[in-house]
Amino acid sequence: MHISRLHQVVAPFDFITLNVPLKRYISLRVGGNADALALIKTVPDLQRLLQVARQYDLPLYFLGKGTNVIFTDAGFRGIVVKLGGEFHQFERLESSLVDGSIEIRAGAALSLQKLVNYCVRHHFTGMEEGAGIPASIGGAVAMNAGVPGWEFGDYVTRIEGLTADNQRHALMPSDFQFEYRRGNLPPGFVVTHVTIRVKKGDPETIKARVGRIMQIRKSRQPLQYPNCGSVFKNPPGDYAGRLIETCGLKGYRIGGALISEKHANFIINPSGEAPAADVLHLIDLAQETVWSHHHVQLETEVQIIPPQ
Ligand SMILES: Cc1cc2nc3c(=O)[nH]c(=O)nc-3n(C[C@H](O)[C@H](O)[C@H](O)COP(=O)(O)OP(=O)(O)OC[C@H]3O[C@@H](n4cnc5c(N)ncnc54)[C@H](O)[C@@H]3O)c2cc1C
Repeated sequence: MHISRLHQVVAPFDFITLNVPLKRYISLRVGGNADALALIKTVPDLQRLLQVARQYDLPLYFLGKGTNVIFTDAGFRGIVVKLGGEFHQFERLESSLVDGSIEIRAGAALSLQKLVNYCVRHHFTGMEEGAGIPASIGGAVAMNAGVPGWEFGDYVTRIEGLTADNQRHALMPSDFQFEYRRGNLPPGFVVTHVTIRVKKGDPETIKARVGRIMQIRKSRQPLQYPNCGSVFKNPPGDYAGRLIETCGLKGYRIGGALISEKHANFIINPSGEAPAADVLHLIDLAQETVWSHHHVQLETEVQIIPPQ
């Protein structure tokens, strides 16, 4: 759709801004502009947006906290949708207590860290390994965020959202298809709320575990620079970071982006000014080099939009 037509179509919606730099919304700080950005605070507003998008065939992209996404320098032709407002809320479902376990229903925009903190404060165990993953709950379920031995999806009991044809729908455990770093949500499904189950645990053990995990993250990850977490999935039985490191690529730079000296599966953008193209070249280079040294095809974990 031509931009002037898009302007007319979205004019009635005060939650939509035109021509927005996407690098402000993603942790690696790269990428061009979106035709439009919708900051949605309520389910009815989300429904209005989906309706107009269907009517005019406007592409939508649902963005969480942008910690596992790279937009190319061309940006996004369509509307990037970010949930806020009521989607930051969460509640403990009192009726759900079974054998010392409880359910928490969280809005998709809530940060996973807030959920972890709540669990620590109220002595619930299950979420400790999620400490320090800078996800929104929507992003955590869409990506099945995790660390070796722990996946967010294992704690999810219900996923509520809107289908591509704008119907409210709840996915139940028999519908879930969680895989390693893939939530496998139905195409076009936007997550609005997620219910998880955690159980009572020992307060000191929970607190100590979270403290230890945060310490390990600080010591191993280049958190002081813009990054997008692990760029590649770990291949079966190995670590992408180890493979890249043994190819001698730690510290390798293309333009403004480089493979972190601290963790070879992280690409950093220290100045915050690198074009996405530098990052994409580094990704290609790492894949080609690892293939030629180890005959392992690294698959990206980070979502590249539009897919290359
Ligand atoms: C420093 C750092 C450390 C990290 N460590 C880890 C780690 O240990 N383990 C791990 O798994 N990941 C890690 N990540 C990556 C990232 O935090 C996770 O993948 C996270 O789940 C992404 O959440 P997000 O809200 O940022 O989603 P985004 O990056 O915004 O989006 C990721 C995907 O989720 C989809 N999505 C987001 N919200 C919704 C929604 N409401 N409805 C439908 N789809 C949606 C997007 O369309 C996109 O496909 C790390 C990232 C950083 C920067």
